[in-house]
Order: sequence, then structure tokens, then C-alpha cells
Amino acid sequence: MSNDKLAAASLGFPRIGARRELKFALESYWAGTSGAASLADTAEHLRRRNWLTQQEKGITVIPSNDFSLYDHVLDTAVMVGAIPEGYGWDGGAVSLETYFALARGGEIADCGHSHGETRALEMTKWFDTNYHYLVPELTEGQSFTLTGLKPLEHYLEAKALGIETRPVILGPVTFLKLAKARQGDFSPLSLLEGLLPVYADLLAQLKAAGAEWVQIDEPALVLDLTDEERAAFARAYAVLAQAAPKIMLASYFAAPEDNLDTLLSLPVAGIHVDLKRGTLSGILENAPADLVLSLGVIDGRNVWRADLSAIIDRLAPLVAARGANKIQIAPSCSLLHVPIDVDLETGLDPELKSWLAFANQKLDELATLATGLALGKGAVAKALGEADAAIAGRAASKRVHNEDVAARLAAVTEADRRRGKAFAERVALQHERLNLPAFPTTTIGSFPQTVGVRKARAAFNKGALDGAAYRTFLEQETATAIAFQEEIGLDVLVHGEFERNDMVQYFGEQLSGFAFTRHGWVQSYGSRYVRPPIIFGDVAREAPMTVDWWRFAQSKTEKPVKGMLTGPVTILNWSFVRDDIARAETCAQIALAIRDEVKDLETAGAKIIQIDEAALREGLPLRRSGWKAYLDWAVNAFRLTASGVADETQIHTHMCYSEFNDIIEAIAAMDADVISIETSRSKMELLDAFTGFDYPNEIGPGVYDIHSPRIPTTGEMTDLLTLARERLTDRKLWVNPDCGLKTRGWDEVKPALVHMVEAARALRG
Ligand code: GLN
Ligand code: ZN
Repeated sequence: MSNDKLAAASLGFPRIGARRELKFALESYWAGTSGAASLADTAEHLRRRNWLTQQEKGITVIPSNDFSLYDHVLDTAVMVGAIPEGYGWDGGAVSLETYFALARGGEIADCGHSHGETRALEMTKWFDTNYHYLVPELTEGQSFTLTGLKPLEHYLEAKALGIETRPVILGPVTFLKLAKARQGDFSPLSLLEGLLPVYADLLAQLKAAGAEWVQIDEPALVLDLTDEERAAFARAYAVLAQAAPKIMLASYFAAPEDNLDTLLSLPVAGIHVDLKRGTLSGILENAPADLVLSLGVIDGRNVWRADLSAIIDRLAPLVAARGANKIQIAPSCSLLHVPIDVDLETGLDPELKSWLAFANQKLDELATLATGLALGKGAVAKALGEADAAIAGRAASKRVHNEDVAARLAAVTEADRRRGKAFAERVALQHERLNLPAFPTTTIGSFPQTVGVRKARAAFNKGALDGAAYRTFLEQETATAIAFQEEIGLDVLVHGEFERNDMVQYFGEQLSGFAFTRHGWVQSYGSRYVRPPIIFGDVAREAPMTVDWWRFAQSKTEKPVKGMLTGPVTILNWSFVRDDIARAETCAQIALAIRDEVKDLETAGAKIIQIDEAALREGLPLRRSGWKAYLDWAVNAFRLTASGVADETQIHTHMCYSEFNDIIEAIAAMDADVISIETSRSKMELLDAFTGFDYPNEIGPGVYDIHSPRIPTTGEMTDLLTLARERLTDRKLWVNPDCGLKTRGWDEVKPALVHMVEAARALRG
């Protein structure tokens, strides 16, 4: 890396391979069809290709150790010896078997005798992304040890290819902040002093091997921190700076805000800031003159082509003032969160394609910016011309802007977001109309997506099964599911969702303004990747999306069948969204489209309609100060979706999580007549949120943990319901599983639901 030129830096590249090579290598290793050597080969091949691609595209600061077989937080935990007891680890190098046991649970027998089944570490969302990391578990007073040198090995591996890299390491403060205390009540941060020597050792070895820079990621710097946490940064970097190569300290996903002083005071050679979600204000004025600024101007979280000319215009004065060797042009964060290559999307039309930039294209953009800023716009005239044309085309495109949608949105009033009568009056009308028993039983929507269902869908998609035959197949599945539900005596039935591939994609494919990729995979966790829809234009519904299937199912039974929809906030949060209008606006557009579907279901005769908001909580901003604004528009979008129906139509919503304490008022403000939530794993503890606050509407606390293959007994479910009755009045209570049943088999679902109905009957006594 040259220091006298303006650098184009990459903070991290997707590991999965453009053709999902890593997934297939992992799965065949786990299945035992290939060995460790073959997995290592694939991994090495992917690293080499990523380095070479970045080099060829003109990236001058290329990362190493951004690669991981499963998860970079797990890599860090393993490297520092933060391995809980029970995994058969003897304190030395950590075997692949132990690594994957931590990631996925399973049998470990690598030291000659079996340690029995181990559980996987918990998994949770990496900041506000849809990437999930494994949560390190720490014990009070535990020590750390350097068990391996993956960052050094990968640095040397690249060096052997002639590529000088900047190793990426997850910083110690963020690592501890993301970890949890396994036993006892102590702060993981109290372990910092013991962790620092391990980091210092590693950094010294990197320096000795010739690394000029390291990138240390401390995204915790964009969170709400206590003074104590801020002080931890000062202590950590005072120690690490002595041992390390030059440190580029990376913050991302938001602005440091009140942590900015801390960030600027650390003894590091450079800082990275996210300029897509933060600003330069405060930084320019206060950054020491010799501090290298890495400017995250290319969006690492979204798929749109950047306005390169505008960025150059904005940054040119800054480069002139600070000097080119004190500036690096970078993506806002690692490119881990975007798909790899737009060029693979041969199915997308050229116009839409020209608006997109995935990881490879973002590398081109970074190089163009660095060259343009160093040598002037003329040096990159061709690239800028193409970008300008794409940006202008997108801004003016008829496919993006739909005047009807804009007009309809502008006409929305508060009354459109309010049901006719208050819940207390609606509930009487609904009870009279539905005439359900006490403790009504229902399920969350999907029934098992069996191999048969998935095979039929694949055959249909390939053209091997024609539309009529596929339809007949789905009708049979649906009719069988209805018959089963009647037979075991459930009160409110569902059609089973056999026709749906995914709860967001199914709707996106039928709405205008959405596009789908063929290869646009993004890592969700480990070997699980998702292909989020791309919302590129105003969203509108062209025709009813679910009414036919609902009608078919209802024709098979006298019992009420729920209409089943995905809510606007969940559709938004699981998609790549537009960057030319506010999220809230897109969300309101989706709300209007789903509102029409709600009304059509009602007109067709549905007495109960469920609107799932599985991802509502996920959308919460990283900073508390942003929560209210988000919850306001998210709740408004839900209400807009749900409020077009008559008072006697019962609206349900479902959320598959359990932390409600801090958002319970917003949940109540959604004003769904019935909410079903996850509770069985927490033994109803979470219902405390619903009692402390006196949640006004009806609730179905999940009594069947669908994430486990275990079939709960009738007694376990009556016990859970008894706990629920201690907290909620009987007339509010519904009886249902935690979530949809699509991932389970019928041999589990059948007995579990029979027990569930028995449990409800026992309560009715
Ligand atoms: N109705 C959906 C289902 O049952 C809900 C899924 C979810 O909440 N994740 O599958
Ligand atoms: Zn769920």
C-alpha cells in the first residue's frame, strides 16, 4: 500500500463466494461426503479470488482475515480461548470439530472419546443487520489465551501471493460488549485487562511479520455507551497501540455521536467513519492533522449505484485541505451485507441492472472515486459518465414513480389508521359473531413444508410440472391440512401456506416495485444465506394475492379460516430498500397495498385476518434516541394496513420473539385484536411485560416451542397456560404455538397439536 496516493480501501468482502461455494463446501463437509482438506481448499480458493478481484479492480487497501468459515465473532472467541466448558477443549489449538460444535451443536469425539451432544452457542443479530453472530459466553474472572493465529496465517497467505493486506480484527471492547456472562452477574467488560495481552501478542506478531496497518473493528462505538464503557476504549488502545502496527480503528453502522470524543482521543493512526449513516461534522474540526480518515462513502448496506460525481465534488475540498495521503475512500462498512456481483443477474433487465452495484461493482466505484479525487474527474470521465447516466435515468424513471401511489398516500388521514370502534366494543361484536369457546385454539399459519411440497415447487419452477398439476397438488395439501385441523378440533383454522416459498418473497413477487435476483445471496448466519427482494419503485398491488387460496380453504370447512398476510414493516425490514425516499414512505406504500388485500379478504368472507410482523422489533435503530420515530411510523403503517375493515372483523398479528418490555406501548398501539407471540422457551416470563403494562387486547402466548423437535406433553402445555392465567384474564387468552410450523415434520406437528387442543380443553374443564 502506497502512502502518498489517495487510497481506495476495502473493509471486508463477502466470504460466501459468488456461486455460494462456501455453503456447498461446508454442507458436504458436515454431511461427511468430503473431508477437512477439501473444505480448506475451497476456503483458500475463495480468499485468493477475493484478494485478486480487489487488486484487479484497483483497491489499494485490501483486507485479510475478513474471511471466516462460519462467523467472525466465533473466530475471535475461539482465537482468544473463550470456549465454554463442555466442548472437550484442552486449552491448545481448537479443532474444526470443536469450532463447528460451538457454531451448530453436535457430537464431539476428537480426543478419542465422545463428549456427548453439545449445544450451539446462542445466535443474535449483528447490530442492525440481518447477519447473525454467535454470542461468546464468558465466565467471571476467566482467563484468555491465544489459541491460534488465523489473522497472521491469512496475512502471510496473501503475502505469498504478492498481495500486501491490512488484517481485520474484531476489537476487544466490541467483542466483550457482544459477549454474555454465562454464570453469575458480572460485566464481560470486567475481563478487558485479561484479554488485552492476548490481543497485544497477536498484534505484535502481525507487526513482526511485516504488516504495516491493521484494521480493528469497534462498531460498539456507535451504540449508547456508559462512561465506563467509553473509558474501556481508552484503556484498551493505550495498551494495543504499543504493540500493534498502525491501527485503522473502524466504526460503522451509524455516527459515533457522543462517543466521538472517545474515538478521536484514541492513540491510533486512522479512524473509519460511516458517512452513509453518519456525517463528517465534528470530525473534520477535531481530528488531529496527522490522523488518516477513512471515509465510508459507498453504501455497504444497500445495492444502489452511487452518485460518484457528487461524492467527488463533496470530498475534493477536503482532500485538498488534508492531503491525499491522509484520506482513504471506503465503503461505509464491510461489503459482507451486500450480494457479490450484479453481472451474474442475467435475468434482470438492463435498465434496472444499471442502477445497481453489488460488492464487485462497489469496488469499481471505490477505485473510481480514489482516482478521480487524486487526479481530477477527467481521469475517470468514462466511469463518471456511466454513473451519471444511470443516476439520472433512475431518478426520472416511470418504473420508479407511480403517480397514483403518491396521490393515494398524500390523501391518507388519521382516520384511515383507526378502527371504527375502540377494542372494548369491537371485541363484543367479534365474540358474538365468531362464537368461539374460551381459550380458543389456533396455529400461526404455515404447516410443514415437506420434501414433497418443496419438490413440487421446484418442479413447477423448472417447468417440469405444469400450472394446473401444481395447483391440484397444492389444493390436495391444503384440503388435507384443513381436514386434519377439523379432526383434532382446532377452533380457528389456517390454509397452511403450502403455496408460499417465503413470507416476504411471496408478496413481493406479486407487488409492483419489487425485483428479485437469482444470485443475490447475502449471509444470514453460517451457511444460511438469504436473497432479499430489492424494492426499487413505488409499491402497488395489481391484483388480490391470497384471496383464492383463502377461499379454497374456507370452502372445505365451516370453521373460520384466517386470512394470512405479511405486514408492511416485515416486508420492508427484510428487503433492500430505496435510498431515494424515506423508509417510512416505502413502508406506508406497502401498507396501502396490503390494506387492499385485507379488505378483499374481508369482502370474500374472512372473519379473521392475521397480519404477521415478525421483523418489527428488528428494525429498531441502534440508538434509543431513534426508537420513538421508528416505532411511530412502523405502528402507523400497521394500523393503516389493518384499519380498513369492519369492527366485527378480527385482526390478528404475530411476532416471533419474546422481548416486549421496552416496546410494549408501541405493540399495544398497533391495536390488533389478538396478538400471538413466542413464550414457551422463556416459560411465560416475558408475559411480565404484558402484565406490568396491562395490555388491553387478546393474547396467544406460544405454548409449543416449534424451534425444537420435542413434542410437548399436554401437561407441559397446561402448566404454561396456568402460568399465563396468573398474569392475564381468561377471556383474553388464546392457545397456539410459538410460530409457524413450516420447519417441522407432520410426525411432530400432529401429536403436538393434539396435545395443545387437549390442554385448552382441560382449562375449559
Ligand atoms: N404465518 C407465518 C408462518 O406461520 C409466520 C412466520 C413467522 O412469523 N416467521 O410461517
Ligand atoms: Zn413467528
